Amino acid sequence: MTLAVHMRCQRVRVGVGMALRHCTGNFLSPRRSAYMTPHSSMSIFSRQMNMEAQSVAAHLNSSGFIRSQGLIGGKWTDAYDGKTIKVCNPATGEVITNVPCMGGKETNDAIASAYDAFVSWSKLTAADRSKCLRKWYDLILAHKEELGQLMTLEQGKPLKEAIGEVSYGASFIEFYAEEAKRVYGDIIPATLPDRRLFVLKQPVGVVGAITPWNFPLAMITRKVAPALACGCTVVIKPSELTPLTALAAADLSIQAGIPPGVLNVVMGNAVDIGDALLASQQVRKITFTGSTAVGKKLMAGAAATVKKVSLELGGNAPCIIFDDADLEVALKGTLATKFRNSGQTCVCANRVLVQEGIYEKFANALSSAVQSMKVGDGFGEGVVQGPLINDAAVQKVESLVQDAISKGAKVLVGGKRHGLGLTFYEPTVMADVKGEMLISREEVFGPVAPIQKFKTEEEAIRLANDTNAGLAAYIFTTNVQRSWRVTEALEYGMVGVNEGLVSTEVAPFGGVKQSGLGREGSKYGMDEFLEAKGLVQLPSPFAMTSSKSSFPCGGRGASIFCVSLLLLLS
Ligand code: NAP
Repeated sequence: MTLAVHMRCQRVRVGVGMALRHCTGNFLSPRRSAYMTPHSSMSIFSRQMNMEAQSVAAHLNSSGFIRSQGLIGGKWTDAYDGKTIKVCNPATGEVITNVPCMGGKETNDAIASAYDAFVSWSKLTAADRSKCLRKWYDLILAHKEELGQLMTLEQGKPLKEAIGEVSYGASFIEFYAEEAKRVYGDIIPATLPDRRLFVLKQPVGVVGAITPWNFPLAMITRKVAPALACGCTVVIKPSELTPLTALAAADLSIQAGIPPGVLNVVMGNAVDIGDALLASQQVRKITFTGSTAVGKKLMAGAAATVKKVSLELGGNAPCIIFDDADLEVALKGTLATKFRNSGQTCVCANRVLVQEGIYEKFANALSSAVQSMKVGDGFGEGVVQGPLINDAAVQKVESLVQDAISKGAKVLVGGKRHGLGLTFYEPTVMADVKGEMLISREEVFGPVAPIQKFKTEEEAIRLANDTNAGLAAYIFTTNVQRSWRVTEALEYGMVGVNEGLVSTEVAPFGGVKQSGLGREGSKYGMDEFLEAKGLVQLPSPFAMTSSKSSFPCGGRGASIFCVSLLLLLS
């Protein structure tokens, strides 16, 4: 760890889905050195932050919480060629640990393990699978602090927010432990008098789950918990930027008694891992959360083996504040949806559309609230905004802000890198934003609230829907009729009405248009991992000719039918 002081990690994407990660000394970065000369007060502050993060890392390491191997068939495994990737703390630039840089071979072995494990896991009773999941949930909650610390270390979000994500992530496991027992089939009225029709719900099989870095636990549990509840087995590929939370959660799954091979974790070369998952005949489902560009590639790749696919992709959320909104409620909701996780969520307000009558008032109120937000290392007291994930993320924010300024937008607060250096960016509010600016068309994925003025409800709806994305939208109004009218007109998978947080385990999460396919969370999330098998039965001829009874009210015919059905199902 000490050798790693002053190291800086940066991932550079080279085209869609191709990622290279470099660790370089700070002194190599001109931008970094501008902020952190050896004698500046900023470097003293940074050293204090490093000490805090270092002691947390040392504690997690000594308690065995930092796992630095993949998990294949219940065995902790290195990359077969010994290659590793560094996992860095974005708040300090320090290397936390190295994890294996796996590829196609390891992924194929993980798939084989999951395929073998599927035979027995899918045959367990729902109650037994439910017990395993419940145990996993209990263990995650018992280690909420450590998991939160690990997440803050590798992802950068403030500790309180990280611990909040642990609870949120765990809630999917609890919910699906319960839902496992409610995978009901159907009985359908037949079209012929002597036939009986049934629907059996069966697990799809081995699932490949690819997840991003912004929610290192919840994006995994939202997929894995329903998959396991249904009887599927999984190969998880977490982001190379945040694999440690995934590995710690996987470790707890073993402790919870989830059998070897049911849950496997590989990480490293995203393209090779993705290709192996796509090529395998044994993988019957790909579930992905991440960028729209990679989602499209996976969808195309899944066509060769006709896999089931669900995609949770990027958003471009409008947050519409009408003149009749309660200012306090609108402000609270906008802050929650915009600045959570430093603006790095798919459901973050990407465009704040404000009606002309409340525009000035709202812009002033938002600016003064944002001005007081404390930025720093996620372990710091009172910090509400951590660093962005890497330098590429900051560069994207910078370029969108510059584009908006060059086209006439005004910076009300922030608008540049934070004095803390590294990947910290100032919480920012911009006014006079227009629909043609890049900031209105692309995901900012950073702490920038671009405010755009509108006149009428019709204009707000038109602006809101003028995008290929359709994940989350928010409206703030005290007019109930308007809230229904606008909600129904918005082309989005989720709408928050006077509410900035739309994610919960009990409601469906997902997008329309190019924001994705399928739903996660809630009872609907189960369907993504189930196949409906139709069963058409001609009951025994004896049953149909029996004068004593007609199916299914009782008598010998019915018992013969029931016995034969039970044999079929067993
Ligand atoms: P990303 O670049 O698409 O990466 C997501 C995952 O895909 C990572 O594990 C990544 O691996 C992997 N990956 C990249 N290229 C791949 C390929 N060719 N084949 C297989 N896997 C590949 O997205 P991100 O930058 O991590 O995450 C931010 C995006 O996710 C944003 O667009 C955000 O809106 C979206 N998101 C959506 C939701 C939702 O629920 N709709 C939730 C959260 C985030 P490596 O990281 O190891 O390269």
